[in-house]
Amino acid sequence: RRMPVTVTVTGAAGSIGYASVFRIAAGAMLGHDQPVGLRLLELPQAIPGAVGTAMELDDGAFPLLTSVDVLDDPRKAFDGASFGLLIGARPRTKGMERADLLAANSDIFAAQGSVINDVAADDIRVIVVGNPANTNAAVAAAHAPEVPADRFTALTRLDHNRAIAQLARRTGASVTEISRVTVWGNHSATQYPDIFHARVGDRSGSDIAADRDWLVDDFIPTVARRGTAIIEARGSSSAASAANATIDHVHDWVLGTRPDDWTSVALPSPGVYGIPEGLVCSFPVRSVDGGWQIVEGLDINDFSRARIDASVAELQSEREAVRTP
Ligand code: NDP
Repeated sequence: RRMPVTVTVTGAAGSIGYASVFRIAAGAMLGHDQPVGLRLLELPQAIPGAVGTAMELDDGAFPLLTSVDVLDDPRKAFDGASFGLLIGARPRTKGMERADLLAANSDIFAAQGSVINDVAADDIRVIVVGNPANTNAAVAAAHAPEVPADRFTALTRLDHNRAIAQLARRTGASVTEISRVTVWGNHSATQYPDIFHARVGDRSGSDIAADRDWLVDDFIPTVARRGTAIIEARGSSSAASAANATIDHVHDWVLGTRPDDWTSVALPSPGVYGIPEGLVCSFPVRSVDGGWQIVEGLDINDFSRARIDASVAELQSEREAVRTP
């Protein structure tokens, strides 16, 4: 039997946290032969909720779950952790400006980055879900100088999965027949779901993208505004699908992407595709031997370039807003 690995989940009492931990305990994230110890980190006022979640985890009698700890001290929560799922973030409240939201979250993620730097396991891998996810990941990475920057990622897999679902609806193909979709940029309304390199059964994505009215007026806005549509429909934001995407992201990071396919992950740019170095931007990536490799050399047409540039400009302005002088 393998040694258990420690998975730390922040904001564990929240909706996405709640929807994630049971599937992690069941082996969906790291495989059905990998025992897991869970650490649930929460703010002091949310500890009772996390304790309730821990009681339910106990009651699942999950064979792979070796321990559950509920903590409000990040230093204890990340001690020896191999995975950090940073889900908890400060939501925008009434009267709060965008700059206030960025600043409040920057403080949270700077603190968590520096704790991860000090106490996490050498193989720590981080995924930031809490918004603004890309910039929060950049801040955390900047405060963890001893951790390789590419271990800090942000979630755009939900956008990626949404794009696949919309393509399947449009074409009648099953999701398993769709590959090589890319989400570029920020996890925000400026994100750009790119199907020009996709394959849908034996059709090429650029063939499907030839219907520009559908691409511009339907596909791209439907994917980018899906979160808002879900809030309108269910009265609260997406939780199970966000948890599912978080689990997909870590699963593929550890266990590999499908052959002949890639996925979308936001990670610090090494300066490829004209995206400034260090900006946490979503790219097409493959997972090779447990690390992300950006798929390079894709031909970016003018249509795509303009949209990627717009999202990158937004990322730059977020990054400027949180930069400490
Ligand atoms: P959720 O679990 O619904 O969401 C958590 C975060 O994920 C939010 O920032 C949310 O952004 C973000 N998110 C990213 N992608 C998506 C998506 N596709 N759909 C929905 N959300 C997405 O929030 P809750 O309020 O239910 O729970 C948050 C918990 O975090 C609370 O229990 C709180 O106490 C805790 N917290 C913990 C901290 C810590 O551990 N240090 C710090 C701050 C909070 P958005 O707000 O834009 O929807």
